[in-house]
Amino acid sequence: MNDFEKRMADVSSGGLHAFDIEIIQVNVGLRCNQACVHCHLDSSPRRTEMMAWPTMELILETARSVGCRMVDLTGGSPEINPHFRRFVEALRKKDHAVQVRTNLTVLLEPGMETMPEFLRDHKVQIVASMPCYLEENVRAQRGEGVYEKSIAAIRRLNALGYGSDAGLALNLVYNPGGPFLPPEQVGLETDYRRELGERFGITFSKLLTITNMPIGRFQTALRRQGQDQKYVQLLKEAFNPQTISGLMCRHQLSIGWDGTLYDCDFNLALGLSVNHGAPDHLRRFDRSGLLTRRIVTGEHCFGCTAGCGSSCGGALA
Ligand code: SF4
Ligand code: SF4
Repeated sequence: MNDFEKRMADVSSGGLHAFDIEIIQVNVGLRCNQACVHCHLDSSPRRTEMMAWPTMELILETARSVGCRMVDLTGGSPEINPHFRRFVEALRKKDHAVQVRTNLTVLLEPGMETMPEFLRDHKVQIVASMPCYLEENVRAQRGEGVYEKSIAAIRRLNALGYGSDAGLALNLVYNPGGPFLPPEQVGLETDYRRELGERFGITFSKLLTITNMPIGRFQTALRRQGQDQKYVQLLKEAFNPQTISGLMCRHQLSIGWDGTLYDCDFNLALGLSVNHGAPDHLRRFDRSGLLTRRIVTGEHCFGCTAGCGSSCGGALA
């Protein structure tokens, strides 16, 4: 039993179990036009892993059989997948709500000139990385020039109605610039609205705060600084039982680029597929075997239960 399961045992017995599959999160590939220092997936322009069309076809069938509320597309940079538009069109044709997690800068890359209009026309909801409203913090985390490009991309999305029109959600994502927990989400959202509004006239729907997970490139950076154990200790000490009912693994299923099933994108990054007897690949998908599956956990799970909690949908408590 790992430390997380021991801590969970104080709150509920029998391990952590899924509750439903409201969201299917699809990681369509690990390639990204950026290489951020906090990336839990080690994504970069050098990665070649990419979801193929036959896997997407299987997902179309799976999404229908599950009856999920939303299909959430992530990466890497999901827009880079050559089948991205075809996949979105097929999902929307079957009336699935679709959300894409964009890093914003990709929208300014060659070949992406019409992507914002494509997303709008298909009513795709957008979750966009914007780790701070201050340029120096974004530069430190995501690289030179990323802040300016992100602002330009948000303004372009705003001009199309994203962040203001019904059905065109534009949610921004904050994550800390170092080994500390995010500030309280509602208060930070007010700061973002004021700063981005006054400086650039930007509007957005919601701010989501996400805790950095002690895995991937962020963990490597922490180790280099001798901060890795201290950070994990911080997460453990901030364990908040009120976050447990909302943990994203309890309400969603992640699918990797090769069709492997995971409890969440963090487990995907660690190569920890669904287990405890549940089917671990799309080809063996079985709704009843996955709906209340026991979740595979590890020390990194303390990143989801610390403080106000963290998920792909922001704070939990
Ligand atoms: S954090 Fe997002 S934008 Fe940055 S390298 Fe990873 S996938 Fe790409
Ligand atoms: S890391 Fe994944 S499996 Fe662990 S608590 Fe968070 S969402 Fe659940």
